[in-house]
Amino acid sequence: MSSGDSHVEEERTLDPRLGSSDPDELSLRPRRLGEFIGQDRLKANLDVAIQAARVRREALDHVLLYGPPGLGKTTLSHVCATEMEASLRATSGPAIERPGDLAAILTNLEPGSVLFIDEIHRLSRIVEEILYPAMEDYTLDLVIGKGPSARTMRLPLPRFTLVGATTRAGLISSPLRDRFGIQCYLDFYSADDLATIVTRSAAIMSIEITPEGSAAIGARSRGTPRIANRLLRRCRDYAQVRGEGQIDPDAVTETMAMLGIDHLGLDEFDRRYLTIIGGKYGGGPVGIETLAAALGEERDTIEDMCEPYLLQLGYLQRTPRGRCITTSAYSHLGLPTPRSACAAIQNGLFDAEGTARDGDLDVC
Ligand code: ADP
Repeated sequence: MSSGDSHVEEERTLDPRLGSSDPDELSLRPRRLGEFIGQDRLKANLDVAIQAARVRREALDHVLLYGPPGLGKTTLSHVCATEMEASLRATSGPAIERPGDLAAILTNLEPGSVLFIDEIHRLSRIVEEILYPAMEDYTLDLVIGKGPSARTMRLPLPRFTLVGATTRAGLISSPLRDRFGIQCYLDFYSADDLATIVTRSAAIMSIEITPEGSAAIGARSRGTPRIANRLLRRCRDYAQVRGEGQIDPDAVTETMAMLGIDHLGLDEFDRRYLTIIGGKYGGGPVGIETLAAALGEERDTIEDMCEPYLLQLGYLQRTPRGRCITTSAYSHLGLPTPRSACAAIQNGLFDAEGTARDGDLDVC
């Protein structure tokens, strides 16, 4: 972290990436496709593929899951293994440093098993090249020796299913992406689906909650189940200490006020982000590196943690010239909208690429 700013050093309740440290994360994870809430089209496609593979007694085709953090990619990899009655081996792109690491994993797989590689976009090119024949022909090409005497040995591998997960589909090379027969995008969840997830999690954790309480948490969860579960735990603490033990909309409102989270799920960091673009930079466009420096936060963190939800809300636009905030963001902040680049985009004065159509726009 690049700054000593207290805002950025404390762990954000709304960080969708922080998960493994959450207690109950494992017990809350749906195990079967039927327990997995929302993402209906994705579930239907996966269900057909799983059933077909089971009928043919084959390994499931390789699956690529992409979408923002906390939406259920890891959960779905476990679901695939459970539904296929197969074992699961989980690892991540950065953990596989050398081709030998991957070769060791692949040669130890059982027939039909699921290999889950999280953050698959972070595999090095040389490791990725080992994966190509492994995915396509279930073979491992090993180079033995060095220099002119080096020779290649081809080892057969058991048929397996690779489930790759990424928050950055754009960073996956096309040869790798093309080798996934099933490619699924996980979108943010609706407030209704999140309320259902909260109700389910509350039942597992034996927390008393009213339907209105679940809906109030769902609405503030930024479309993300992991955040919904975390906010549920914070509300449980509040209800136990200050309330009657039951979570109702009042308990949710009080808890959120203490955490600085507003009715749409925006926290102090989001408001600083929007206020910097709206105030200092007249609405934008402003480059991501400039923003990262102004916020004292890393670019990746801003791109993964903060921007996807603001884009989803329609508060933010990304253009080749930089980030712009929209008139809805100004009204959310309670600020008057200036005649800015962002307003110009909305009024059609910029084209889709963010290039000005009108020479004398009042942009910063
Ligand atoms: P990702 O791998 O995309 O970061 P995870 O699979 O780790 O996300 O999901 C985070 C948590 O959110 C899980 O532990 C699970 O409890 C919950 N979760 C995710 N998707 C769903 C869903 N569709 N239904 C119910 N709970 C879910």
